Amino acid sequence: MHNMSKIIIGNWKMNPESLEEARVIFNNNLQMIKGVRNVDVVICPPFPFLSIANNSKIKNISLGAQNVFEKPNGAYTGKVSLKMLLSMGVKYIILGHSESRLLGETNKVINKKILSTLKAKITPILCVGESSRDDNGFYLAFIKHQLIECLSSVPKTQIKNIIIAYEPIWAIGAKSSHRATKEEFVEIQIFIKKVISDIYSLKIASITKIIYGGSVHPLNAKGFIEAGADGLLIGRDSLIPKKFGNIIKLIR
Ligand code: PEP
Repeated sequence: MHNMSKIIIGNWKMNPESLEEARVIFNNNLQMIKGVRNVDVVICPPFPFLSIANNSKIKNISLGAQNVFEKPNGAYTGKVSLKMLLSMGVKYIILGHSESRLLGETNKVINKKILSTLKAKITPILCVGESSRDDNGFYLAFIKHQLIECLSSVPKTQIKNIIIAYEPIWAIGAKSSHRATKEEFVEIQIFIKKVISDIYSLKIASITKIIYGGSVHPLNAKGFIEAGADGLLIGRDSLIPKKFGNIIKLIR
């Protein structure tokens, strides 16, 4: 993705509390990024608020979902299908977020979702990341295992249609133990490319898009991009248009 647009993804999680507030945040985000070039922005609101993007005329902003259910339709109370998301204009889906994994989502289920999401021509954003680091490098084996299982049966021609988000759990959210450095990101970026190269080829690894997520804010965003990240996944600061807009303007 070098020399191409960077991708900035806003994950709103279970926020805000009303459709009205969601509209205000979305519209303010739009104002902030008007005229910005070379950045593709993806907003991932909760399912009930997906309609906020309906009348958006700005080209470089797309709609994403925070998850999807793996079955196509039927008696699955409370679940949302790919076709429903497609009909709402969703172009990206976050899969395997650590908060979804915490609620029981396994690599096997994430793999099924990736395969069907690709089939629907929606871009999966596959999240991987360890809960802590150790001196023996077990966290590397953990990430490798996540990648191998989540990408099982994904053909090599499809890897370019996936975004891999490295999100160390220890660096996510307000309660994060500390923030990740760009060096810590680069280490894993190289490692992910090595794993992809082993599964597919060096050529595929070189075009695989790898982004960073975990307490990104206006002061550290640029560092990750300069270090080679193809983009950023942003939680808290994506709900604050001033900060979200600043991140986008700063990384161009
Ligand atoms: C996330 O959970 O995807 C995330 C990056 O959150 P935050 O930016 O709040 O750490």
